Order: sequence, then structure tokens, then C-alpha cells
Amino acid sequence: MGRVEVAQSAALGGARPQSVALTPTPPAIWAQGELGLGGPLGFGGHPSALVTASSIGSSNRIRVLYCLVEHGPLSRADLARIVRVPRGSVAPIVAGLLADGMLIEGEARLEPAKTGKPSRPLWFGPAISPPIAVQVQASRVVSARISQGGHVVQRLEETLSPKMRASEIETLVVDLAREILGTGPTCGVGLAWPAVWDHADGTVLSCTPIPALNGSTLLPQLTAALDARVFPQDDARALALGQQWFGEARGTRNLAALQISAGIGAGVVIDGRAFAADGQFPEVGHMCVQLDGALCACGRRGCWETVGSLEWLRRQAGRLNWPNSESATPGDFVRAPGPAAAKVLEEYARNIAVGLVNMATCLGVRRFLLHGEVVTGGQRLEAMVRDRVARGACLPGTPDIQVDFSKLNQEAGLLGAAALPLAHAIEGV
Ligand SMILES: [Zn+2]
Repeated sequence: MGRVEVAQSAALGGARPQSVALTPTPPAIWAQGELGLGGPLGFGGHPSALVTASSIGSSNRIRVLYCLVEHGPLSRADLARIVRVPRGSVAPIVAGLLADGMLIEGEARLEPAKTGKPSRPLWFGPAISPPIAVQVQASRVVSARISQGGHVVQRLEETLSPKMRASEIETLVVDLAREILGTGPTCGVGLAWPAVWDHADGTVLSCTPIPALNGSTLLPQLTAALDARVFPQDDARALALGQQWFGEARGTRNLAALQISAGIGAGVVIDGRAFAADGQFPEVGHMCVQLDGALCACGRRGCWETVGSLEWLRRQAGRLNWPNSESATPGDFVRAPGPAAAKVLEEYARNIAVGLVNMATCLGVRRFLLHGEVVTGGQRLEAMVRDRVARGACLPGTPDIQVDFSKLNQEAGLLGAAALPLAHAIEGV
């Protein structure tokens, strides 16, 4: 049970792309039903919301705050340039946010080659304190305080063992969250976990990677134990939000983030919003890619998971008589010598590519970020998947499909957990 503490750690979002689109549009999201309150966020989230005179003022304030999330601390002049309005138009909005404690002004800084009054960078004030992210995975639990700009400020981690009972896991998660919460104020706690839960009472309906949590009341326990609102979301969706808000796809309007490990899950962002249809999320792992194929855990045949998951790969390792076939990873196949392992790897790449191409064909999304055990296959497997996707892209004349193995990998989910409470704090202005 190795605890890892990293105080004031380097920003995971440190690899922030400098060339993000200067869009004034906030990355609106659809909430995945917090406990007892399902449904989308108000601003930008509800398709039928009308814009009124008063909501314009609120929208402008929200846009200013989202600009800081995306770009970090900004002077008034930089802010005006990014939202493409005269500085005089930004000034009263900023003044209101300063008066309400949503913003504070930093130390004056003289910029070289500039004359006149030194600028004072604007950043979040005490009314929007940093979110806390809790990430539950099959092998670990992480609790972290994330800055409003997507930097990990403080972090605690504990490993999970498959033998742990539900009560042990629940206690561990609550303790880790409480410990981080004790270090300062927060705008809310985001929970990213691989579970399907009852939105009315928070009970876990299924949790495939951690079967001990089936039927668990972790969510209501967490809510009761913490003096803060808890915002749960599915782990694959958290990956997508983390990548879009703070990660490798920062500012991207359309993308799919996939978790490819024991199963296959995806979070899909379309036109800037994490996609859901009436609360239903894509179950891409159970898209049929092989008619009359192998039986899936869901009871149907030929699901993508039956050929693209670790289970398939480990079955092949068993056929090759590998001694530890039940724990084999794509990385093991990359390192293994001989044509037999190479052939399995080729087939695995093809199996992953077929689902990606299907998603691109159905959704029009061209940007895919892959996470999970698949990433252990490194550049070799990444190149194979890209090659297979390029060969399988069925419609002539459509833009290229970009597939990357995520460098943030699971950290993207941690950052994504922070996005929901932060969005609520900003949009509750
Ligand atoms: Zn299935």
C-alpha cells in the first residue's frame, strides 16, 4: 500500500499547448447527474435556454472566467484581445467579478518592451476555490487538489488490491478525499470512477473493473462525509473532459477519449460538449464489429471488447504458452521476439482500429486519444493502429483521422474529475 505524496507538484497541464484556439466560447459540458440532481449544467448546456438581457451579462462573466481556465492568469489587455472586444468592454465585467470575489488581481508586472502602466494579472478569487478530484481505478485511488488552470497542487495516492472488500475501498476513498479537503477550501469534489450508478440514491449498479463495488454506497458515503458537493462521472468521460479542458486536446471542439484496458469505454466531445443523449452515454465497447463473433460479457456476440480488450490479447498469450499470459500487456508483445508475437500485435492493432474507424464514420469525430493498457504498446503499436486506421478509413475525401496514445494517460481522468465542480462554480456565477 504505497502512499505517494507530491505536494506542489509540477503541473500536469504544464504541457499546455501554446497555440490553442483563441475562442471566447466556454467548453460547455453536460453533467452526468450529480447525486440527486441529474441533468445538464445551465449555461451553454441546455439547448432550449433562451438568451435574455440578464443572461447576457451572466454569459459574459462566465466567458471571462473560462478564458482564465483555458489560458491561465491574464491581464485585462490580454483578456480583451482573446475575447476580441475593446478593453473598455472587458473592464466593467472584470470590475464586477473582482467585487464579487470571483477574481483577484496579482502583483503588477512590468512587461519588457512595453510602456505605460504595468499590467496586473487576473486570477480566480476566493469565491471560486480550486476543485478536488478523486479518481477510483482498479489498481489505485488518487485524491488531488487541482488548480483552476488544471495544475495538480497536492496529491495523495493509494494502491488497491483485488482482494479488498467494498467497505475497505469505501473507507480508503473517503479518507483520501477528506485529507485533501482538509488542506483548504474547494468549489467541489469531482469523482471519476469506472461505475454505473443509480442517479436517485447513488448506489453502484455495476463496476466491472472493481467487482467489490457492485452495490456499493460509496457515493452517498462520500457526500455525507465531506463538507462539499460531490460530482460523479464515468471514468471514460472524465478522460475526455480532462483532455479537452486541461490536456493534450485543450480547446479541441471534437474528440473521443478511449479507455482501452480490460474493457473499452469512450468519452466523446462533440462541438465542445461531452456527449450524452437523454443521460445515455456511448457504450462503444459493445458495438458489434464481428457478426456471430465471440460471446461478450453483455450477452451479445462480436462486441468490440471481445477482440480489442486485454482479455483477447491475454488469450493469445495463452495460446503462445506464455508463462504469465493472464497478466500480459501490449507492451509485452512489443518486447517479445519472434513472428508469432508480431502477428498477434498486428491483429490487435487491426481490432482496435476497426472500432475507431466505426466511431469516426458514425460520429464524424477525427481526433482520438487512447488511454489505458493499450498505451504500454508505445510508439510501435501506436504506428500500427494509425496505419490500420488510415487503411480502414472508408469514405474518400474525408479528413484524416488523428490517433494518439495519450501521454497524460490516466492523469487525464484525474484532471477531468476536476472539470465538473469547476464548471458548476463558474456557471453558478
Ligand atoms: Zn458486449
